[in-house]
Amino acid sequence: MPETPSTLVAAADATSELLYAAGSLLALLVGVVATAAGLVAGAGGDLVPGAILLVVGVAFLLLGAATTRRGRRRIARRHGPTAFGRRPTVESRIVRPEESFDGRCVRCGASVESGAVRRYREETLVAGVPLYTHETGENAYCLDCALDEFGVRDDTTDTDADALDALAERESETTEATQ
Ligand SMILES: [Zn+2]
Repeated sequence: MPETPSTLVAAADATSELLYAAGSLLALLVGVVATAAGLVAGAGGDLVPGAILLVVGVAFLLLGAATTRRGRRRIARRHGPTAFGRRPTVESRIVRPEESFDGRCVRCGASVESGAVRRYREETLVAGVPLYTHETGENAYCLDCALDEFGVRDDTTDTDADALDALAERESETTEATQ
């Protein structure tokens, strides 16, 4: 049965998601307790143990935040470690007919059943990691316009399926190039 492997994969994904969630919750808890203990110790005059607890606490808080689902998505979108400050980023993804996408092509106005979506973000980066998103916008392209926009129209894009594959290939190249 074709369902069996995908059910197993889904179960494994769900399990790892759960472990991640439990792990980041634990790290956040340890972080809060250690940070609070550090502040209390520091206020009570125990400066060195207070400072050590504070550093450990903040480290656990960062670890906890980085391993949440949102944190991992942001880390996956990170730029080079020297990137700081506000800057625009562009991401594109392929729209396949199965996803029943609801949107219109920004170039020709046709409804987009398959094609591509470009997402613009204006983000503040700290050491390459996007910490704050100022604004986002999305442009959808029908398959025909996406081929022009992404410059992948050639002899291998005769059928819609081939065209989507060519777009997907181009997309992975540009994603790698911007990292
Ligand atoms: Zn179009």
